[in-house]
Formats: sequence, C-alpha cells, structure tokens
Amino acid sequence: MQKNTKFFQFIKSLKFRLILLILVIAILPSLILCIGVLNSYEARAVSIRESEILSQAKILANQIATSEYMDKGSSEANIIQAQISLLTTIYDGRVIIVDDNFKVYHDTYNLDDNKTIIAEEVIRSFQGQEVTNYDEENHYIEMTIPIIDPDDTSSTVQGVMLISVSTDNIVLNHGYLSQVATIILVIVVVATVFFGILVILYFMKPFGKLSDGIAAIKEGYGDDALQVNDYTETALICKRFNEVIGRMKITDESRQEFVSNVSHELKTPLTSMKVLADSINSMPDAPKELYQEFMEDITSEIERETKIINDLLSLVKMDKSAADLNVTSVNINELLEQILKRLQPIADKQQVELVLESFRPVTAEVDEVKLTLAITNLVENAIKYNRADGEGWVHVSLNADHQYMYLKVEDSGIGIPEESLDQIYERFYRVDKSHSREIGGTGLGLAITRNCILMHRGAIKVHSVLGEGTTFDVRIPLNYIA
Ligand code: ADP
Repeated sequence: MQKNTKFFQFIKSLKFRLILLILVIAILPSLILCIGVLNSYEARAVSIRESEILSQAKILANQIATSEYMDKGSSEANIIQAQISLLTTIYDGRVIIVDDNFKVYHDTYNLDDNKTIIAEEVIRSFQGQEVTNYDEENHYIEMTIPIIDPDDTSSTVQGVMLISVSTDNIVLNHGYLSQVATIILVIVVVATVFFGILVILYFMKPFGKLSDGIAAIKEGYGDDALQVNDYTETALICKRFNEVIGRMKITDESRQEFVSNVSHELKTPLTSMKVLADSINSMPDAPKELYQEFMEDITSEIERETKIINDLLSLVKMDKSAADLNVTSVNINELLEQILKRLQPIADKQQVELVLESFRPVTAEVDEVKLTLAITNLVENAIKYNRADGEGWVHVSLNADHQYMYLKVEDSGIGIPEESLDQIYERFYRVDKSHSREIGGTGLGLAITRNCILMHRGAIKVHSVLGEGTTFDVRIPLNYIA
C-alpha cells in the first residue's frame, strides 16, 4: 500500500513529468529525422539510378537506330552488342530489343528470343513515349524506350528497347543505413535521458531545499526566515511563507497577551478581596459596622469579577468564527426605546439627558440579543463617560435607506484623545484605567460591540473631540448577508 502511494507520488511528481518531456523531446525529433532521411534516401537513389539508365539507354537507342543494328549481319552490330552487355553488367540488368513486329530481336538473358511482346508499355513506346516504372516490392526499375533515328524527320519507331535493372544494392544500402540510424538513435536517446535526468535533478534541488526548510521550521528548528533564492519562484514562495509565519506569530502573541490580560483582570478583584478578608481576620474585635463595610466592599469586588467573566463570555460568543447568529426580523425603533428605557435610571443618576430620535420606522434582520448588547454598550459608555455637571446629554438617532440602517450615538462627554481612537476596540483597553474601573468598566464593551456589528456585516466609526464629546456611527444591512 505504502509502495503504491510512493509510486503514485512519483508519477504525479514534476520530476517524472520532466523526464517524460525529455524522452519525448529526445526520441520524437530523432525518430522523425531518421525515418525522413531514410525514406528520402531510397526515393532519391532510385531517381538518380533511373535518370542515369535513361540517359545511357537513350544514347544506346540512338546508336541502334542510326547503325542498322536491326539489319542482321551489320558490321556495327557487334560493337552495339558489346555496349548493351556493358550496360547490363554495370547496372546488373537485362536488355530486350523488340523490332517493329513486336518480336524480340535480342534478349541479353536469351530467354525470350523471337517471342512476341505486346505489353502496354511496349505499345506506348511504339507511339513514341518513354515509360519508366519502379517495382518497389521486387526492387527493380523497368524502362521502355522507343528506338528512333534522330535524323529521321518522320520519327519512325524502329523498335523498342526494354531495360530492367535491379535496385537490390540500393535496398541493401537502405538496410545498412537503417541499422546505423537505429544505433545512433539509441545512443542519442540514452545520452539525452541520462544528461536530462542529471539536469532535472540539479534544477529540482532548490525545491528540495524549500521542503527541508519548511520541515525544519515545522519541527521547531531555527526561527530564521525561510530563504531559497535560487529561483524567482522559490524566492516568492519563501516570501509568502514568511508572511504567513509572521501573521501566525502575531496571532500567537496577541493570544498570549489576551490570556495574560484576562489573568491580570481576574486577579485584581481577587487580590482586593483577599486584602479585605485578611484585614478583617486580623481585627477580631472590630465593630460590626466595620465588618459590614468590608463585606460590602467584598460584594462589590465579587460583582466586578462576575461582570468581567460575563463580558468575557459575551466576547467569546461574539467571536466572528464561532458566529451563530439567531437572525429574526426586528423592529429597531422599539428595540431602541426598550434599551433607552432600561438605561434611563443610570442616566438619571448621572444627571444626563437621554434623547431618542427616530427618523423613520426601521425593521431589520438581526440577532436581537446580540445587537441589544452592542447598542447598550455604546449608550452606557456615552452616559458613563459624560460630564458630571448635570448639563450632559446623550443623543441617539436612527435612520435608514433601502439598504442599511444608520444608528448614531452622540454625547457631550469627556471625549477620547486622538491617539487612543485606534485602540478603543481592543480587548481590555481603557483610556484612563482608574477612571474606567471606578465607574465599573472592564475594557471589553467596545470589543464586544465591534465584533457584533462585524458579524452583522456592518461597520462602526468613531469621531471624538477631547472635552467636547464623542459620536459613534453604526451602519448595519437591513437584510442579513450570510
Ligand atoms: P469600558 O468597560 O472601560 O467602558 P469599553 O471597551 O466600553 O470599556 O471602552 C473602552 C474605553 O474607551 C473606555 O475605557 C473609555 O476610556 C473609552 N470610551 C468608550 N466610550 C466612550 C465615550 N462615549 N466617551 C469617552 N470615552 C469613551
């Protein structure tokens, strides 16, 4: 099984594909070249042989026509006979002379003497044509040439010369060349594949380095950035990989920071409680009123601890990835009225005027519980961080278009310094730690609010002037986008 997967891995590898490519590149052109050259060799050799024989035969035919060779006993007959013999010897062939009665006048093989030949080629030659045929299967060239006296103005065909010449030696040469070509082909393929594989292995090395480097980082060796700069591609992969690792480190650091912040925040009320309890224990004779006062302090620390834990739980629920929104169609005007009604006592206590302005009826697809928490945090902050001279106000307004609802929470409070504006959504961030703690803040409220709004695919923006007031603008789609 393991062997099988290794085999498939090899088949799927870039290495294997490159080897295949090299094989194709090495074999195909060489093969085409060999076949092409060999084929054209045979055709070319036959055609050269044909034209040689034709010119020789033509000279001979002229001599026959002008020499009264056909008249038996002519003095030139022997010379011509000798020339015919020479031609047949040189070309390993056979010559037949046919007279004007289609009778074989002379056959160098002496097989068909005095026979009548009425072949198609012979008839065509008697009409003045030269006919050439190549019999590829049996390896011979056949030629028929009319015997005409060039000085005869009537161009009378006196006879026909039939020549058949063997091309066995051409075929033999072809066979020999094929063998040589095959040997060369094999050598070329083996050499190309061998050097090809060496080159491929050399070129693939940086990818091995890359894989080893990633494995080393995975195993925890070396914190250095991955660097394989042999190719632009490997350098780019390293760059992207280092970016991902960088982002993971940041996430890890922020998680660690969060855990240490949580521990710290949870420990603070516990430390206070311990101090208070120790103090009481060390005063066994303390009056009842002092006990009561200490117990009240301990209760308020417990409440604070509970609030931090509740806020942390809310924050976990608002985690974007763990999003489990319970979306329903909600009348936002009514929702705001309820929230403000619930917060009115706190506003009264702070002597802050709370005003709601609804520009139109708005219904949106939202998670009612989560959105209530988010808006409550904003309005509560606007009340909490307001002025204490009894002149403070909080103005909440609601508007909408066909796509979004717009919520504005404006206050006349202490404002947020510009340099803190980017950080207020961070978990446990507080502009003034002691002031926030005094008024019961945990530093988690805005983080919860922002997460909730992002879960609804909305946006939140803040504008603030120190000492004058703060405005939070929230935009949420009317129809929930999954
Ligand atoms: P907290 O529980 O401390 O209120 P939040 O996350 O709700 O935490 O707010 C973070 C910090 O942002 C607060 O400590 C406060 O300093 C500042 N802040 C939030 N809302 C306002 C506001 N309306 N006016 C002034 N400061 C604000």
